[in-house]
Amino acid sequence: MIKAALLRDYGKDLEVVDVDLAPLTPNQVRVRMAASGVCHSDLSLQHGKFPYPVPCVPGHEGAGVVEEVGEAVTRVSPGDHVVLSSFPACRDCVYCDAGQPFLCENGMAEGIAAPYGSAGGETVFAGMMTGTFGEMTQVLERQVVPIDREIPLDVAALVGCAVTTGVGAVLNAAHVQPGETVAVVGCGGVGLSVIMGAVVAGASRIVAVDLSAERLALAETLGATDVVDASQADGVAAVKALTGGPGVDHSIEVVGRSATIRQTYDLTRRGGTCTIVGAGGSDETVSFDTMEIFFSGRRIVGCVYGNADPDRDFVRFLDLYKAGRLPIDTLITERIGLDGINDAFVAMEAGEGARSVVVFPS
Ligand SMILES: [Zn+2]
Ligand SMILES: [Zn+2]
Repeated sequence: MIKAALLRDYGKDLEVVDVDLAPLTPNQVRVRMAASGVCHSDLSLQHGKFPYPVPCVPGHEGAGVVEEVGEAVTRVSPGDHVVLSSFPACRDCVYCDAGQPFLCENGMAEGIAAPYGSAGGETVFAGMMTGTFGEMTQVLERQVVPIDREIPLDVAALVGCAVTTGVGAVLNAAHVQPGETVAVVGCGGVGLSVIMGAVVAGASRIVAVDLSAERLALAETLGATDVVDASQADGVAAVKALTGGPGVDHSIEVVGRSATIRQTYDLTRRGGTCTIVGAGGSDETVSFDTMEIFFSGRRIVGCVYGNADPDRDFVRFLDLYKAGRLPIDTLITERIGLDGINDAFVAMEAGEGARSVVVFPS
């Protein structure tokens, strides 16, 4: 029996309850959680915007220590430190064969179907196939990536979503080159990771756009060369003015709303690349007229989970952290217990702070 934060139904607060974990299948791994970040996608799941079966234990950005392994598991052993991936890849489909494991649908189906546990006799799912808002979770073997034991697990946890999504967007999706200009619209945990990634890529100018002065200050700490407070100024005009008129080479949208996607497209220079990282709702649309799509010559790039291969990128990004080139710890603005998640959701909705991290007592 473990304590976990349960979402009984869409729109409800999370409740800390006792969960009985199911027996492990041969290819599952049970992990004692050390830390779990609170991500905007957890909020989308709570609101039912991100379709996922309930009741479930949300949380998908976690790291911990392997507690027990199924009989067929070879990748890890008890005691190994791991980061969890919420994108299991089957390694044997058209997407995986094309080097795009972040698009694998087989792995997702298998992850959702994998047994997790029950609460009060009712079957409970592991939210986003990971369920990191509990003292322990169990996931498929292919969802655990072993890491160096010297890395703090609260830092490692953020590589499970925010860091991989943001840094991956810059390096894997946008392919920012040294000397290019970058603007990021939305500076929560993922947007701030975009800024860190743009520094690593050697961008000459990194413009941070957000509505929160606190987040913009953090953006400057992490390497933004310019900040635009969109609550005070027209963000599109401000970014274009900073580049002398044409707009930036690369824009990266991390909000997932039609208005901000449209603005992000508009502040990209002709021929530039507009990368969409924000996960919006299927009820929102964005309009472009047919002439501007042609004449602007811009590329619009969708980006899922930083277009990452977790097996390669988790370790790569943590190596950059160890080398002092990816200050992931700066993203953690609050450490909370399981009972603090509802308040963290409220703060996130208000656009406050960067990342709240649930820390589990060891
Ligand atoms: Zn996330
Ligand atoms: Zn696959």
